[in-house]
Amino acid sequence: MDKAIILRYAEIHLKGNNRGYFENTLIENIKKALKDFRYEFQKTHGRYVISGFHENDETYIVSSLEKVFGIHSLSVCYVVDSNIDDIADAAAELGVTSGTFKVECNRADKTFPMKSYETAAELGGRMLDRFADLKVDIHNPDNIIYIDIRENKKTFVFTSSLPMAGGLPVGCGGKGLLLLSGGIDSPVAGYMMARRGMKVSAVHFHSYPFTGVKAKEKVLTLAQKLSGYTCGIKVFIVPFTDIQVKIHENCPEEFMITIMRRFMMRIAQKIAQQNGMGALITGESLGQVASQTIESINTTNSVVDIPVLRPVIGFDKEDIIKISQKIDTYETSILPYEDCCTVFLPKHPVIHPKKEIIERAEKKLDIDSLVSEAVKNIETIIY
Ligand code: ATP
Ligand code: MG
Repeated sequence: MDKAIILRYAEIHLKGNNRGYFENTLIENIKKALKDFRYEFQKTHGRYVISGFHENDETYIVSSLEKVFGIHSLSVCYVVDSNIDDIADAAAELGVTSGTFKVECNRADKTFPMKSYETAAELGGRMLDRFADLKVDIHNPDNIIYIDIRENKKTFVFTSSLPMAGGLPVGCGGKGLLLLSGGIDSPVAGYMMARRGMKVSAVHFHSYPFTGVKAKEKVLTLAQKLSGYTCGIKVFIVPFTDIQVKIHENCPEEFMITIMRRFMMRIAQKIAQQNGMGALITGESLGQVASQTIESINTTNSVVDIPVLRPVIGFDKEDIIKISQKIDTYETSILPYEDCCTVFLPKHPVIHPKKEIIERAEKKLDIDSLVSEAVKNIETIIY
């Protein structure tokens, strides 16, 4: 029996005039996700149908589509000729063999000889004849069998639909640059902004040789995992060692983290501006560590003038971990490699930094040339 996959899209149906743009972006992203498969794609009102694929590819196609934002739900269905015997045979193959059920029928083809409710009743009767343990329950069934009789004399037969990633198609929400560390929070932050349709790139500050090759590989693995959700990802690796050494040599120890963060923000803003990105994204969560008090955030935020999005700011660590497990970044994030922030960790970092005091402490550094030097030596990797 032939199979097809029906995709229903999420929030796009709320869009007005620019709906076409959202739809086209979603279709492009679906095609990108399925580039390794042979299939046919059809757009019908309010949904898409994927058919003509090899039966062995079905599960791979479904798992590739799970990461495409903008898809609300998916149903794998049988496609049969629109006659009641074939439809009944397909319904019997759905695995609904016990418990309660009902049949719902949609008849787009008005030439089909039975009305919707007659078709549903007939198929319900045939299911009861075939499976002794089945019972009809119209109000609260365990399973619903959907029959969709299309205009082209083909009928889709399916049961429950799988919830998909939701959100908006990547590319519809502008471009953002994610400050990606090797930790748990920043990959989740990137995932969340991609889910709102943002095209996410990543920047990582690397302190070679204080942090080894393994630390960099870890971040690249995270980026690769994110790339499934972000429709590919460009990663900017910034050499950060010189800046850290200069701060360490010239500034009070307790300001190390704050000043380092300010450099990260400045460099990230520069990369964003050079690449047409309208926002920075961080994995900061209020109060999680010393550098995430409101004063610290204010002090680091004040060196940039583009929006800094912090999607996990109000999340508990536990909530963030749950998402990181769902998107499969958790196991990589907890691998024990050093992050550049832990290398020069002061014993007593300032928790409530004052902007003016930090600015004074930075006076000894040639900020502009340190920033341009770092930007000049960026390495980029694309997944
Ligand atoms: P994460 O789990 O994302 O590492 P964290 O709880 O460890 O976050 P911090 O180390 O204080 O928190 O970092 C706060 C944010 O700063 C990170 O979420 C990330 O966006 C950014 N950041 C920290 N270190 C780096 C780095 N080496 N490269 C790029 N961004 C970084
Ligand atoms: Mg970290």
